[in-house]
Amino acid sequence: MTLTAPNTRVRTIAHWSDGKLFAGNSDRTAPVTNPATGQVTGQVALADVADARAVIEAARAAFPAWRDTSIAKRTSILFNFRELLNARKQELAELITAEHGKVLSDALGEVSRGQEVVEFACGIAHLLKGGMTENASTNVDVASIRQPLGPVAVISPFNFPAMVPMWFFPIAIAAGNTVVLKPSEKDPSASLWIANLWAEAGLPAGVFNVLQGDKVAVDELLTNPAIKAVSFVGSTPIAQYVYSTGTMHGKRVQALGGAKNHALILPDADLDLAADAMVNAGFGSAGERCMAISAAVAVGPIADELVAKIVERTKTLKTGDGTRDSDMGPLVTKAHRDRVASYIDAGEADGATIVVDGRQVSADGGEDGFWLGPTLIDHVTPEMSVYTDEIFGPVLSVVRVDTYDEALELINANPYGNGTAIFTNDGGAARRFQNEVEVGMVGINVPIPVPTAYYSFGGWKSSLFGDTHAHGTEGVHFFTRGKVVTSRWLDPSHGGINLGFPQNN
Ligand code: NAD
Repeated sequence: MTLTAPNTRVRTIAHWSDGKLFAGNSDRTAPVTNPATGQVTGQVALADVADARAVIEAARAAFPAWRDTSIAKRTSILFNFRELLNARKQELAELITAEHGKVLSDALGEVSRGQEVVEFACGIAHLLKGGMTENASTNVDVASIRQPLGPVAVISPFNFPAMVPMWFFPIAIAAGNTVVLKPSEKDPSASLWIANLWAEAGLPAGVFNVLQGDKVAVDELLTNPAIKAVSFVGSTPIAQYVYSTGTMHGKRVQALGGAKNHALILPDADLDLAADAMVNAGFGSAGERCMAISAAVAVGPIADELVAKIVERTKTLKTGDGTRDSDMGPLVTKAHRDRVASYIDAGEADGATIVVDGRQVSADGGEDGFWLGPTLIDHVTPEMSVYTDEIFGPVLSVVRVDTYDEALELINANPYGNGTAIFTNDGGAARRFQNEVEVGMVGINVPIPVPTAYYSFGGWKSSLFGDTHAHGTEGVHFFTRGKVVTSRWLDPSHGGINLGFPQNN
């Protein structure tokens, strides 16, 4: 692997096209920072339209040969990729920590969850099997097959620079498509590391490409006729834009958006388990997860005890550089850190109680790092901006309600529907909740119910535009299209002239 850790010097982070680095011709760049030090560690290329077209052309040119490569050969490359990734994932985790800020163990966890999808895609031979009916009509056989779409685009957010792209590209590639990945401009280095790994695994040039950039690159991917499908993950307004623009240009689109995840804690719950879960799911990755819990809905008389238990645990957390022994790292940029802090200010001004105040944090890291400690806000009500908006930071709100029905109504009224969890020892209540809640991913005594690779990941309502979730069999369906072949080999000329509609007999 030729890439070095990016916090040693300022580098230019280029595109990857046709099996090699591609500088492009645009003179636009954006700074990439190490959030734990505040230092600029790289400049990422921001593609212009010509750069984007060059990368898309590499994917287009590579498609026919890759589509016609045998499943056996494609699978062997997938297995190579899996072995290399498994052996070297520490390197990738270090790159993620250096640009995203999350602690190393969390970065490793992200890579491992992405690897699960690679492992799932290694079974593509089974997943692509079609169906065949002999003698559907006399001497007529019918077969269904699934074929790849062509070049597809993956547009990913900053918060999972390895796992989110891996929700899509292993399956897309295994199924015979070629890929253009447009990573977040905030932490783009992981994508190049992955491109190098594919090359080492033996993937032909042009099958996996990386296009660095911003809206200019995205718009070209959404409108260029060579791109047949788009898998997007990011905030809701951009997801909505990507979905409408991409589908208007005739593409298949799945666009996963933002989230505001609630946990419902019933009075009979194990409050120690619930408090552990609130801390882990509220503050892990500094709350920069689309499956983070941001609202704990306490039902009935347990709120005071639950809050006390969360406070006790929150106070033990160490905020600091992700390469050190920290529980929680910095936020991704200074602008994002300041935006998240402004929600704490707003919650305070609106009359909520700031029980643990992350604005006062003393972090184990650079003095210019983008620090904000874990923050717990109690007595939050549904009109407050700290409740209505996706904050995407280490801010956990407690909302107090009297009944299960009130809690359910609150969750179902929320425009987002990504993940949710219930904490209870009552199986009947849990079953009712899984049935009644209008959210795509539900945890029962599990705070971050991210489905395993062979199930599909996706939210409801403003958390997903399109009708196909990521990975699992839905992913295979998204990256392939069906074809049905009807054939007759015996006595093909019998029947003579007959202009009637063909009937089975
Ligand atoms: P973002 O929407 O700002 O960016 C996502 C991608 O879109 C990036 O590649 C970015 O370059 C591109 N982009 C940004 N602005 C654009 C524009 N105006 N036009 C076209 N493209 C544009 O999101 P982010 O801040 O990188 O990531 C955080 C968001 O992603 C949160 O809202 C989080 O909930 C969401 N997210 C959702 C899921 C999910 O599975 N639903 C998973 C991870 C993150």
